[in-house]
Amino acid sequence: MDREAKIVIVGAGIVGSAIAFQLTRRHRNVTIVDAGRPGSGATLASYAWINSRDKSPHQYHDLNRRSLDMWQRFARQLNDDIGLRWGGEMRWSATGPGAESLLARAEELRSWGYPVIEVTKDQARVMEPGVVMEPFTSAVYCEIEGHVDTQRTVRVCLNRVQQAGGELITNDAVTAINRYGNRDGSPGEKPAIRSVTLAGGRELPCDVLVLAAGYETTGLAAMTGIEFPQRRSPGATVVTEPLSPIFRNIVCMHTPRDLPEPQALMNVRQFTDGSVMVHGGTHDGSIGDTSDDAPEKLITEIANFIPSLSGARIKEVRRGMRPMPEDGFPVIGFADAVPNLYMAVMHSGVTLAALTGEFAATEILDAARIDILEPYRLERFNR
Ligand SMILES: Cc1cc2nc3c(=O)[nH]c(=O)nc-3n(C[C@H](O)[C@H](O)[C@H](O)COP(=O)(O)OP(=O)(O)OC[C@H]3O[C@@H](n4cnc5c(N)ncnc54)[C@H](O)[C@@H]3O)c2cc1C
Repeated sequence: MDREAKIVIVGAGIVGSAIAFQLTRRHRNVTIVDAGRPGSGATLASYAWINSRDKSPHQYHDLNRRSLDMWQRFARQLNDDIGLRWGGEMRWSATGPGAESLLARAEELRSWGYPVIEVTKDQARVMEPGVVMEPFTSAVYCEIEGHVDTQRTVRVCLNRVQQAGGELITNDAVTAINRYGNRDGSPGEKPAIRSVTLAGGRELPCDVLVLAAGYETTGLAAMTGIEFPQRRSPGATVVTEPLSPIFRNIVCMHTPRDLPEPQALMNVRQFTDGSVMVHGGTHDGSIGDTSDDAPEKLITEIANFIPSLSGARIKEVRRGMRPMPEDGFPVIGFADAVPNLYMAVMHSGVTLAALTGEFAATEILDAARIDILEPYRLERFNR
């Protein structure tokens, strides 16, 4: 692609910021625009566990695994403190059937080359003396997983973009996407995008438009006539005031899935400043978004497993809409119907940011079609 081509990215969450950063590394000047503050969408609320643990089928697991492995390089490229921590995730089961399913999944993951190992109760206790794993029927540990501070990651990506001459526009939403027409004013057969208009009145010309606007991408895509179905999936996480270190070896912990809610499915990680993030609920739902007392309840429940969290003061409740294409899988790539429109919308966008940033830059700048992205094209919804 022409070095002078104008590339506009809509959405400065972790996905749009990673794409902007990788394009910048390839010496392209980009403009990245966000309706609000960078990183304030799903990226803010994210539990930000970098993993391929709960990802199926095998092909989707591999996509996430590849990105997990790419995070080390991404962090090296960023060359700054992004709060990235490796050390792995531990979870355990509380019932007989729970143990069967936990260990069967671990076996399946190992057959895919994913290093999940079974640990005994004594080993688990030695690894994490601050965690009360009761009731206990089995436990597994996966050493290669980590988590990251998404706010720092976005900030560092965007600093690099701006230092290289790229433009960051904040608090200004894209309100129109303008396309070329035929000379008689009728739309062309596949009319390309020529510019976007911002709420503040600016018009940004573009040779390539990247939509990385998370859940809002559906509305933006509709401005080009593209139907992009997403599920509603609100989520929230609770962040405490800083505490002493809660883990000795691991960096993420999940409570047993086979306990009754709300004890089941709580996830915990600790930021480098000592504050602790607790995420309750599955990836399809989370703690009640309208309930004011839910965050306190979550802390009370988690303190049954991590006593040092008892009475922890809540600093922040973060809420966001997960980007969630209807079938749960990412949408990455140029849209067939609009030749210069690139879309990047996905759940697990933290795990997938390393891969998406690099692969999107390759597809945009080198006119490549990366084969492992083929299952994740938008067109699968219109077949
Ligand atoms: C509670 C929760 C837990 C999660 N846990 C994990 C996890 O453990 N691991 C993992 O990998 N993923 C996790 N995810 C998913 C992950 O956080 C998201 O996939 C990722 O943050 C998406 O990033 P994004 O940049 O695509 O979208 P967003 O962060 O939503 O960013 C989109 C941006 O677009 C901007 N925007 C929207 N409309 C416009 C417009 N018209 N004009 C300009 N800008 C616009 C918004 O302001 C926003 O900043 C979780 C998500 C949630 C909510």
